[in-house]
Amino acid sequence: MRDAVHKALAARRVVVKVGSALLVDGEGRLRRRWLEGLALDLRELAEGGSRPVIVSSGAVAIGRRVLGLDRSVLRLDEKQAAAAVGQIRLAHAWREALAGVGLETAQILITLDDTEARRRYVNARNTFETLLRLGVVPVVNENDTVATTEIRFGDNDRLSARVAVMLAAETLVLLSDVDGLYSADPLRSPHAVHLPVVDHIGPEIEAMAGGSSSRVGTGGMRSKLAAARIATEAGTTVILTAGTGMRPLRALREGARHTLFRARTTPRRARKRWIAASLAPAGRIRVDAGAVAALRAGKSLLPAGVRAVEGQFEKGEAVLVLGPAGEPVAKGIASYDAEDARRIAGRRTEEIAAVLGWRGRDELIHRDDLVLLDETHPNGQGRSHP
Ligand code: GLU
Repeated sequence: MRDAVHKALAARRVVVKVGSALLVDGEGRLRRRWLEGLALDLRELAEGGSRPVIVSSGAVAIGRRVLGLDRSVLRLDEKQAAAAVGQIRLAHAWREALAGVGLETAQILITLDDTEARRRYVNARNTFETLLRLGVVPVVNENDTVATTEIRFGDNDRLSARVAVMLAAETLVLLSDVDGLYSADPLRSPHAVHLPVVDHIGPEIEAMAGGSSSRVGTGGMRSKLAAARIATEAGTTVILTAGTGMRPLRALREGARHTLFRARTTPRRARKRWIAASLAPAGRIRVDAGAVAALRAGKSLLPAGVRAVEGQFEKGEAVLVLGPAGEPVAKGIASYDAEDARRIAGRRTEEIAAVLGWRGRDELIHRDDLVLLDETHPNGQGRSHP
């Protein structure tokens, strides 16, 4: 089991979700020493070759103290005000802690919707990719200011799962105030048994999740399981462990109690399946024989190989790629909308900026966003290239 944890923590991309109850004490004060310890853990991850991404709660918990909004039930607008006040402090605390270990920080505020609405999704993902490539640690929270529904503790569990899926992260660590999943609520039942590994989140596992038992935050086991389900279905291994003590990731590595939810596939396969099965193509791109050969060899689609662009589509929508004889070759997510795609069709990569007046991605469809269509099943069932 230790091996599975070590492997998960050595993955290329590791999303670490930090709950309010860890970052903020009962009085609404930031736990700075703890945060500094976590920063050391994150540097260790980075030194091991991983790119960590943080999803951090705590804005509302910090802001409500600052504003003196200590009543137990806040209205949505009060919570949003608290989040706005708390977020700037939260981001600052992360920046200081990470700078202390030599890591650069970026703040990303997103709404759950950004991970679903295509165009913003593509932009958000590109920004993440660029930050990670530059060695920056993104610190993510929900953009609570624009939330139109109740800000619920526990939403960040789901947000962290969506971020992990968007980035095709191999691992999501949920640092919580509970050290894993139990067969019953361990605070209430003396017979509750801890589960070290969960292979499949079925009804009997879901029945084990009660309500929330924490004071400051966390949406309870139910939102953890919902997050674990989203992530594992998309190929991300999820580890739920207690983060309350100092150096929680080091503790995990050294054998601290946890529950590991096994990924059901790989992120890459899950993504290809999603593109092949769930996205309806909004347009068509006709390419030359050279481009077909490149795609079959696992390369991205560059504008240079494009002969014609048909239909209307937005950046982030799916398109069908057709070969010289009109045969379906691939399906993928376009990095440009139809109008821009038409303008850069046939152009060399170096010309894109001059043609459009701004510089976007080099690829019209990135290879990670592309599935080859099996010639024997041209109706859209995908075959991943090797
Ligand atoms: N976005 C909220 C905050 O930062 C927390 C949501 C959650 O804890 O799940 O205060």
